[in-house]
Amino acid sequence: MLIMSRIRRLRRTGPVSIGIARDSRTGRNGVVAACTNDDCGWSANFATQEAAELAAQDHRCSVR
Ligand SMILES: [Zn+2]
Repeated sequence: MLIMSRIRRLRRTGPVSIGIARDSRTGRNGVVAACTNDDCGWSANFATQEAAELAAQDHRCSVR
């Protein structure tokens, strides 16, 4: 997964990894949550780590 190489991983909630990623356009750090299940492909950007962790906990992988 290409995007993961630029992310400083913080923690993992279930299949979802949460990390800090630098936005090359704005130069600011954002929080990225991405499902590590290859068949799922879910990922999202958040302004805060708390929001990312909440979404990670709510993420229901459709792939088993
Ligand atoms: Zn998933």
